[in-house]
Amino acid sequence: MLAHLLHLEGIDSVVLEARSREYVEHRVRAGVLEQGTVDLLREIGLGERLDREGLVHDGIELQFAGERHRIDFPSLTGGRRITVYGQQEVVKDLIAGRLQTGRPLLFEAEAVALDELEGDAPAIRFRHDGEERELRCDLIAGCDGSHGVSRESVPAGVLRPFEREYPFAWLGILAAAPPSNEELIYAYSERGFALHSMRSPTVTRLYLQVEPDEDLDEWPDDRAWNELERRLGMEGWTLNTGEVLEKGITGMRSFVVEPMQHGRVFLAGDAAHIVPPTGAKGMNLAVADVRVLADAIGAWYRSGDESGLDRYSDVALRRVWRAEHFSWWMTSMLHRLGGGDPFDAKLQLAQLRYVCSSDKAAASLAENYVGLETV
Ligand SMILES: Cc1cc2nc3c(=O)[nH]c(=O)nc-3n(C[C@H](O)[C@H](O)[C@H](O)COP(=O)(O)OP(=O)(O)OC[C@H]3O[C@@H](n4cnc5c(N)ncnc54)[C@H](O)[C@@H]3O)c2cc1C
Repeated sequence: MLAHLLHLEGIDSVVLEARSREYVEHRVRAGVLEQGTVDLLREIGLGERLDREGLVHDGIELQFAGERHRIDFPSLTGGRRITVYGQQEVVKDLIAGRLQTGRPLLFEAEAVALDELEGDAPAIRFRHDGEERELRCDLIAGCDGSHGVSRESVPAGVLRPFEREYPFAWLGILAAAPPSNEELIYAYSERGFALHSMRSPTVTRLYLQVEPDEDLDEWPDDRAWNELERRLGMEGWTLNTGEVLEKGITGMRSFVVEPMQHGRVFLAGDAAHIVPPTGAKGMNLAVADVRVLADAIGAWYRSGDESGLDRYSDVALRRVWRAEHFSWWMTSMLHRLGGGDPFDAKLQLAQLRYVCSSDKAAASLAENYVGLETV
């Protein structure tokens, strides 16, 4: 996304991706696009397939105490919505867009270290085609996810980490089954949280709250379907089942480093922050970061004005912390908390009832979920 935004400003860049094209185009992860992410993809001319194949959703359902309640986004947010479109589809569209520009995009090119970050020409050392190579540039954007080298290359003591671990994880299932509901269902239950989501009219994405050290082998398909039925089941509603295409366990973590920059390296996306997936914010935040960064880089090349670059971290972190709070709040409201303390459970139910009975509380959830225009 950043490379494309820079291209539109006439700025050259080299994209290094450690994995193969095949791998990144099929890596199933996020699927909920905020209104701002959709608008940006359209603005840069990469929204055509998204508009054709994306599933526009006007709300989500919250389920608790045997009932489902709908949160209607457009009426609560002045017409804003979300679109369900797999992250791997966004990645495919971005790769196709990049290849069309003719600018460099190297696959199976793994950065091993960043050097001379405080100088005017920082360097990336990377492996490609069996050789170690060096790339000198004006600026480095560390968009290499939570396990990349960018964050690790910043000298010790510069970045301050903020972190929270949650005492649960998500078991995720991708199934060849038509979605059982038009919208996402976030279910709070005494057995733990469950989420019904989808990727297309024929593929369902489902999640179950499990223990953080859960063994995937303990979850044969039958057990997972049975547990989903127990947590999501409602009188008169059927959970569609089908072949399980993929199954995995995802840990839940909140993490931010401050500042998101040092010298000539600028961290963006998961390289700088992680959110638990309950708020569907991770990919959207990565996009929001590089939008700020692209504007700052553009101004610097156009006029030598460094103020945008200097402010990058401060500006990006405002949205990051808003999303951190929202993701933590959704997670805390919907999961069975440690030991199933009855006081916690009463507080969660009181909060869920408030969100579903007060327009003002519902609007707060809705505007955060579809993505705030300004933070
Ligand atoms: C199960 C699951 C569900 C999720 N659901 C949602 C959701 O509904 N909505 C949402 O918004 N977010 C969601 N997320 C989070 C979202 O997927 C991430 O936040 C998002 O991918 C972050 O984008 P990124 O570009 O920062 O990092 P990544 O997507 O991780 O991209 C970083 C890239 O850098 C490459 N790389 C790493 N190291 C190197 C290196 N040394 N050299 C070169 N390349 C390197 C990696 O191969 C990768 O392709 C979910 C995540 C998971 C796991």
